[in-house]
Amino acid sequence: MRKYKSILKKDKELIQIVCDWCGKKSGKDCFFEGGCGEVSFGYGSKKQDGRKYEFDICDGCFSKRIKPHAELVCSWIWPPDVAEFKKARKKLESLKEIKNK
Ligand SMILES: [Zn+2]
Repeated sequence: MRKYKSILKKDKELIQIVCDWCGKKSGKDCFFEGGCGEVSFGYGSKKQDGRKYEFDICDGCFSKRIKPHAELVCSWIWPPDVAEFKKARKKLESLKEIKNK
């Protein structure tokens, strides 16, 4: 959840970020120990077709609720977590094998 204050008729300024699960808030500088995500549903979804959701989530809630079900597709941290790196490399190698067949 992100809270904005209006500075002009249509413009907004970000003033705070709040975890949509536990309510943990960023400081006044909007430094948030967490991230944001989005989920888009397509034609196959009977209940959510054409809908897109956005959310903010703190590190703690992400580790508990999302990470066990999510796939890491990019890491800017170096060195990357070894287990995650090996998993990503193994997947890439299997994709190359499929492409070469
Ligand atoms: Zn949280």
